Amino acid sequence: MTSETWNPLSTAPPFPAVRYASIADRIAKVLGTRNDVLLIQAEAVVALEAVATSLARPGLKVLNIVTSPYGLWFGNWLRRGGADVIELAAEPARPIDVEAVERALNAHPDMKVLALCHAESASCILNPMEDILALARARGIVTIVDAVASVGGHDLNVDELGVDIAIIGPQKSLAGPAGLSALSVSSAAWQLISREGGPTGSILSLLDQKIWLDAGRGTLPGTTAPLEFFALEAALDRLEAEGLASVIARHGRAARATHAGLIALGAEPWVKPEKGSHLVTAVELSEAADPKALLAAAAPLGMEFSIGVGPGANRLIRLNHTGLRARFDIVLGNVTAYGIGLRRLGFKADIAAAVEAIALHYGD
Ligand SMILES: *Cc1c(COP(=O)(O)O)cnc(C)c1O
Repeated sequence: MTSETWNPLSTAPPFPAVRYASIADRIAKVLGTRNDVLLIQAEAVVALEAVATSLARPGLKVLNIVTSPYGLWFGNWLRRGGADVIELAAEPARPIDVEAVERALNAHPDMKVLALCHAESASCILNPMEDILALARARGIVTIVDAVASVGGHDLNVDELGVDIAIIGPQKSLAGPAGLSALSVSSAAWQLISREGGPTGSILSLLDQKIWLDAGRGTLPGTTAPLEFFALEAALDRLEAEGLASVIARHGRAARATHAGLIALGAEPWVKPEKGSHLVTAVELSEAADPKALLAAAAPLGMEFSIGVGPGANRLIRLNHTGLRARFDIVLGNVTAYGIGLRRLGFKADIAAAVEAIALHYGD
């Protein structure tokens, strides 16, 4: 190889097999769990599909709480496997209502599984997970939480809350690689998964993944992806150096500062701070404004806005403060650029007041 074409990534060594188990243990610590942790060599959507596929069977009654397109997909995967899915959808792009969950559980005493998403990146909302898990726990229901967009941004103590399966990805708050994911599995969840005739011989089979646990956690099944695992290890190193509590606090502060900045600007945050994701903040555009035109007007400022995803979210602009972006300069840039975008479209925005409001959140 000539020096012009040499690249360290093309000669990366294999990831040492003895370190997979330690990565799983470090993720278990992040999740606050003594449950098994599986490492999945694919992005988190595959882990979600694997959970649904491995659990689904005819006659299994599942309450599937839908607050974004991910929840809809999850229900479809369960139905594909023959499960009896009761879908409970929130108001478009809003958090689910705990009373609605309680009513649904009371109406179906034979419910075996409940699935929900903790925080949504599609609409930037936070679901009342703790209250919902308490309802499920009291009924002995196996619980599944999509924590991809909440791990590292919100408190998530899997064992304290009684989460049977928590699915995470490193690519959001943990600022890690997107090419792999992980999940924790309780013994109650393994019992359901290990039933007779559970799927095997598939990338979506958790029973296949369990072979790694049963074999003493050496080499992962399949060809392993060294670059992804080195990157995950680096992300965990950084997380541990900063401290999980600090990372969560940093995201909380970014969310509060963004919210306060938007209000000072004269804009309308989509939900109250306690109902919002700490990773992204949604702001609702007035009827008169075109979301794409706003994105274009703010584009020269180089901040990362996007339009919300899913029903009810197409007039929401998402301000991203995830991972390494959860800090003062990005929050300030986001809100300022949003204000400039509004002004360029002919709307009012009090940028000076917004800057002051954000600075106050970071000034201590
Ligand atoms: C980001 C995210 C995922 C995973 O999606 P990717 O395509 O892996 O980014 C799953 N669930 C939620 C709630 C998410 O925010």
